[in-house]
Amino acid sequence: MPDPQIEKLLILQDRDITLQQLEKELLRVPRERGLIENEIATEKANIEAAHQIIKDLEVERHEVDTEVKSKEAANSRFRTQQLEVKKNDEYQALTQQIEQNEAAILKLEEQEIELMLQIDERRTEYETEKAKIEALIEERNEALARLAETEKNLRQQADEAQAKLDKARADADEEYLGHYDRIKKMVKRAPYLVALTEQRCGGCHLRVSNEVAGSVRVTEAPSFCDQCSRMVYA
Ligand SMILES: [Zn+2]
Repeated sequence: MPDPQIEKLLILQDRDITLQQLEKELLRVPRERGLIENEIATEKANIEAAHQIIKDLEVERHEVDTEVKSKEAANSRFRTQQLEVKKNDEYQALTQQIEQNEAAILKLEEQEIELMLQIDERRTEYETEKAKIEALIEERNEALARLAETEKNLRQQADEAQAKLDKARADADEEYLGHYDRIKKMVKRAPYLVALTEQRCGGCHLRVSNEVAGSVRVTEAPSFCDQCSRMVYA
């Protein structure tokens, strides 16, 4: 006839382990959420970096354009001055400056065309990439929503498990419960209450002394493994 206090304690232990597992799963949630949020941040940074390259190219193109306009304005001033100068060498000097500017403008315009082509190419790449990344972010956000749902369910289950455990604790014998809590602190890992099989402890699997093996069968008092200190029952 098994000790009824052991039976109560076995129910308690079962609920305790259930609660521990739920709490372990709950602990994993924030880490998982952090990983997903990091992935989203990385994807967003990738979009931003690709966009920045286009913005930089546009700034460069704008600078080239400004330079072209300034050289054109200079040439128009030089042409006006040419109408006013009296000396031929002054006129020639202005012609030379105008020609230099025109050559520079040609080069700048080539540069501008090259930049515009690059911008177009980058923009096409960017749009394709952006659509892909946005889809990825959407997926990650859905994963976050599922995770929140999982967490909510786990929390609810943990609350229920806690209530069941509290009830089992209220039902348990105070002395047995005291030993259970003490053993739990000591051995860290469940189970804390184990069966003896062929004189071996179900927790550490070592052989217990004859004295322990004997007391388990005859007394209605808690017995303990003399190797690992877990409570044992026959
Ligand atoms: Zn043991």
